[in-house]
Amino acid sequence: MRRVTVLGATGSVGASALDLIRRNRDAFELVAVTANCQAAELAALAREFGAEIAVVGDESSLSDLHEAMAGSGIEAAGGPSALAEAAARPADLILAAIVGCAGLAPAMAAIEQGTTVALANKEALVSAGDVMTAAVAAHGATLLPVDSEHNAIHQCLAGNDLADVRSITLTASGGPFRDWPAERLAQATPAQAVRHPNWDMGAKISVDSATMFNKGLELIEAHHLFPIGHERLRIVVHPQSVIHSMVEYRDGSTLAQLGPSDMRVPIANVLAWPRRMDTPCAPLDLAALGELTFRAPDEVRFPATRLCREAVQAGGSAPAVLNAANEVAVAAFLAGQIPFTRIAAYVAEVLARSTLPAPKTLADVIAVDGQARAMAREVMEPV
Ligand code: NDP
Repeated sequence: MRRVTVLGATGSVGASALDLIRRNRDAFELVAVTANCQAAELAALAREFGAEIAVVGDESSLSDLHEAMAGSGIEAAGGPSALAEAAARPADLILAAIVGCAGLAPAMAAIEQGTTVALANKEALVSAGDVMTAAVAAHGATLLPVDSEHNAIHQCLAGNDLADVRSITLTASGGPFRDWPAERLAQATPAQAVRHPNWDMGAKISVDSATMFNKGLELIEAHHLFPIGHERLRIVVHPQSVIHSMVEYRDGSTLAQLGPSDMRVPIANVLAWPRRMDTPCAPLDLAALGELTFRAPDEVRFPATRLCREAVQAGGSAPAVLNAANEVAVAAFLAGQIPFTRIAAYVAEVLARSTLPAPKTLADVIAVDGQARAMAREVMEPV
């Protein structure tokens, strides 16, 4: 029995993880499940899986959660500190699948337990990279990457030494607008942006995928997870999303991980790690696929990857500022307040203005994140 906590249980990654756990009820036991405001959905999951505790991040949803949990014998709690407390409960594996920097403090609370943390919440690592990796080392925690690209790299590195790696290539689908001409991008709507051609994901990461910020954030994530030097991290557009990433070794061998575009594959990898478990995903049919194609990213139409590379080069507070500005800009785009092409423009503007100091502690990262959000709101005038 592996005792598992799912932070962000009501989200897309959370649902995929719980689907696998549902199919393997005798292998897993749920400790804590969390959400932000979807109290009824969270309560249903807590009851179904017999979790010890259910927590909503949004305190105003706590009364709904209490009502929905009545008579279940399952604890209910609310608010940011309750999220961190739930993440700190003893568990064998904590899946950090909250979206955005809101997931940072709970992810850090999990890491501080010295346990195994399966990290989907890329924004946390982008914002707090050095602080988080230092905490992993200090507390003897194990960080397993859930993001399909980083999980692919993790698999391609198994049994090898980072010192033997020449380069790492992250593959990118290119998102729903990869073939759109530049002049059409300004008209892209939120509904079009969240309709990803290959993956079924939450709204924020879908927009990130459309702008290519997702790949840029992943570049920063890879920089922290696989420290070979950012200049040896590459991005290639691979529209079929069959190869999830590749590692090139010094002898000229390149290892790639292939699989269906279904998050249950990398999630199964971390749930069963270091073993393997079954998934219901259809096996790859390469003959039916016919061909796998690749092309260089277009950083004129999609400047996000360039901005992320510059942020990782600049270091200090730049990645946290970039992430915060992007979160604010994506929320404004989804609310219909700014056009698609302004997302990267606003992020660039906030980065250029920021003189925020390099964060050294979790509190510093949270402060930088808050100040960068305020700056982003200032520069963003609605259309
Ligand atoms: P979703 O938007 O589908 O789900 C987000 C989850 O986080 C929900 O449970 C939501 O609760 C919760 N949440 C949102 N805001 C807060 C908050 N302020 N405090 C506490 N909980 C909060 O996101 P995804 O599942 O798509 O993505 C989760 C993370 O995984 C992201 O960092 C994403 O980049 C990463 N990821 C996602 C992939 C995917 O396929 N979806 C692939 C690879 C990485 P509620 O439902 O109540 O709002």
